[in-house]
Amino acid sequence: MKLTDFQMVFPDDEACLAFLEETVWPKGRFCPECGCVDTIAMKGKAAERRLYHCRGCRGQFTATSQTWLHSRKLPLVKYFEIIYYDANSSFGMASTRIAEWTGVSQKSVWKILTAFRQLQGFWLSVREKLSNVVELDGKYVGGKPRKTKDQDGKPVKHKRGKGTKKQPVFIAVERDGEARATVVPDDTHDTIQAIVAAQIDASAHLMSDEDQVYAKIGKSFAAHSSVCHGASEFARDDVHNNTAECFNSWIEHMRDVHFFVSKQHMQRYVNDVMTRWNLRVTVEKQVTRKGERVRKVTRERMPLLDKLRVIFGHAVGCNVRRDRKTGGVAII
Ligand SMILES: [Zn+2]
Repeated sequence: MKLTDFQMVFPDDEACLAFLEETVWPKGRFCPECGCVDTIAMKGKAAERRLYHCRGCRGQFTATSQTWLHSRKLPLVKYFEIIYYDANSSFGMASTRIAEWTGVSQKSVWKILTAFRQLQGFWLSVREKLSNVVELDGKYVGGKPRKTKDQDGKPVKHKRGKGTKKQPVFIAVERDGEARATVVPDDTHDTIQAIVAAQIDASAHLMSDEDQVYAKIGKSFAAHSSVCHGASEFARDDVHNNTAECFNSWIEHMRDVHFFVSKQHMQRYVNDVMTRWNLRVTVEKQVTRKGERVRKVTRERMPLLDKLRVIFGHAVGCNVRRDRKTGGVAII
């Protein structure tokens, strides 16, 4: 979507609020405080702010009450502009760049994007469990250690991935379906087992590499197949975990945009990647292959407004505030 088109759809705060009302209350307006549907629109100056009165708890509310957009200092249209730059790009955008383009300070942009990423995690937490064929894999996010030499002056070869100080991320991807990625404190059986039980249905057919952790977990599922990456076996007929490996590369792309991602905030950045992966639509295209026109089915990015509708649809209850102790983001 072009920026000019986006600005035409959202020229002012009222247009943004109207869009939020559509997405937050698709089945009709309700009070976020008590859930009461007996509400009336207020008149006069309050009508300009699209303020409503609840007859149940006698409180007042708007479409942003009890959401991450509640009690903000910047105009709503500025929030939408910042989200436009982030959500409309392939792998997000650095807060420093958006700050330059929107005239908002980098700190504020970072906080808004962090809250938006938190909301994306909230949206993903209410999704159904993965089923059918589910591929498992681990990703280790972090840079290489500095080059060092041993006593003989030869460069020390460092380990890659497992067993290093990098941050482990556990990945489960349903083939032709959604993905789940969780930043985990360690990659031991007990940690992974608890996540797998919460995210994957017991009827699923698991596929993974030769890691013993997955072999043990696979016993409590309908089926488990594995390929041996150590022996250069990456696919055996339908058995492979290449979809999960593909998702891994998306996380690697994230690091191209955000040069430094701290362990503390990594889950939020991973939420962003997950949303991009999960919110894709199947598109059928006519392409030329070896001089012939053939049909090709691909998955492409969901149109921006549809994507925002899905994410904002779960905004009620995800109230994000600044944490006064750490200066980070707290969820209420
Ligand atoms: Zn109420």
